[in-house]
Amino acid sequence: MLKLTNTLTGKKEEFEPLHDKEVGMYTCGPTVYNFAHIGNLRSYVFADVLRRSLEWEGFKVKQIINITDVGHLTGDSDESGEDKMVKALKREGKPQTKEAMREIADFYFEKFKEDITKLNIELPEKFPFATDHIDDYIKLIEILLEKGFAYKISDGIYFDTSKFPEYGKLGNIKLEAEDQTQSRVGVNTEKKNFRDFSLWKFGENGWVSPWGKGFPGWHIECSAMAMKYLGETFDIHTGGIDHIPTHHNNEIAQSESATGKPLARYWLHNAHVITDGAKMAKSEDNFIQLNTLIERGIHPLAYRYWLQQARYNSPINFTWEAVEAAQVGFKRLVQQFANLAIQSPSPSDVGRLEEYRAKFKDFTEDDLNTPEALALIWELLRDESVIDSDKRNLILDFDKVLGLNIQNTNFPTENIGVKDLPEEIQQMISERGEARKNKDFQKSDKLREKIISAGYSVEDKPAGPEIYKI
Ligand code: AMP
Ligand code: ZN
Repeated sequence: MLKLTNTLTGKKEEFEPLHDKEVGMYTCGPTVYNFAHIGNLRSYVFADVLRRSLEWEGFKVKQIINITDVGHLTGDSDESGEDKMVKALKREGKPQTKEAMREIADFYFEKFKEDITKLNIELPEKFPFATDHIDDYIKLIEILLEKGFAYKISDGIYFDTSKFPEYGKLGNIKLEAEDQTQSRVGVNTEKKNFRDFSLWKFGENGWVSPWGKGFPGWHIECSAMAMKYLGETFDIHTGGIDHIPTHHNNEIAQSESATGKPLARYWLHNAHVITDGAKMAKSEDNFIQLNTLIERGIHPLAYRYWLQQARYNSPINFTWEAVEAAQVGFKRLVQQFANLAIQSPSPSDVGRLEEYRAKFKDFTEDDLNTPEALALIWELLRDESVIDSDKRNLILDFDKVLGLNIQNTNFPTENIGVKDLPEEIQQMISERGEARKNKDFQKSDKLREKIISAGYSVEDKPAGPEIYKI
């Protein structure tokens, strides 16, 4: 049984779906005002591993990743800052029109899709754009106004947090203590409570609504899109931990007030990618894109491998050295896999294979323990009691969860002529050739493993062996 850490209860819980074998999952998507950075991409690698694990366990997953193309303010709270999309329009010297905003959104959305494809992330059922759902926000806000959960002031419609006694329940946010420490500068004095947030902000360039032209708030967007595509209550909601205090608590407050039902049953959050002790952020200079890694010779799936060496909910410190070291490991994994013989002479012990399968299942089910799952693959590769073809099949099965595309990943390497190799490697190659001639495959397999451990791979071709540096 899959166990997942639910931020709502703070506990690792057994996952029980709402509907038999179908799982609805909402993943907070990117704000498309800039390129995604490798920290953002951790959120989608994590959601992908979660989704693949569920699929591996036999569930059918309906995943929605929204595209935020309006409403997300630079301040993240709803007090201050301008819309991040407006910031992008200014940065790119474009007019402040809806058409220009959509152009920017489409451009960064395409870049986002390219990134996640390079990371071998399965595409969701749908990527709904926030600006395509204005009617849905209006309907939801109308319900909140009718039920007395919202009120109008001079700059917009706000949610009244005092009407939702459970406000802050996600992550058990200590409201009073926190509010007292907040600076009150710039706080809207018309609001009834400090934590109240805007559902609709008035603005002349915005969309028509029953209350006046304006823009939806970022939180109402996610609530309305999630419920539209997944129903009023669905199984899993994911995002980065920075979303817990405000964005996700606000989503819960407005959705649950409108429907009287829980929004999502399991809330899962990934920890951050950190650089020099600070969270990587699009607004800071510490912002590294996937393409920056690729330009520096890092394969996107080596980045994915690096991420999976940590649990999704532990922070991870980015350094070039760490990612380069992960790439060395990943390359070795790919090469060792490629060197596994497709047909092996004698079968492995079936019980041993079952043990590996059971261990992998335990690690996956233990809140997606990818570091242990990767360590298990290394243990399997070293295990002399398992024959190559069984190793191959097990790894291919495990890779359905890890998504490293181990079988089809190639590192461009150059065939090294035997005479250019260090002497001891030349020696091993020739001994291995002899062993193969004598059909002593046990010996030749042992030698190949030694050659791999020394950092080379061997491919047997009709014209003789080809040697590659790993
Ligand atoms: P955004 O595009 O800013 O709306 O963020 C997209 C996703 O990235 C959200 O789930 C954020 O919580 C997450 N995120 C932002 N910064 C980081 C980071 N440094 N490490 C991991 N996830 C992050
Ligand atoms: Zn969201």
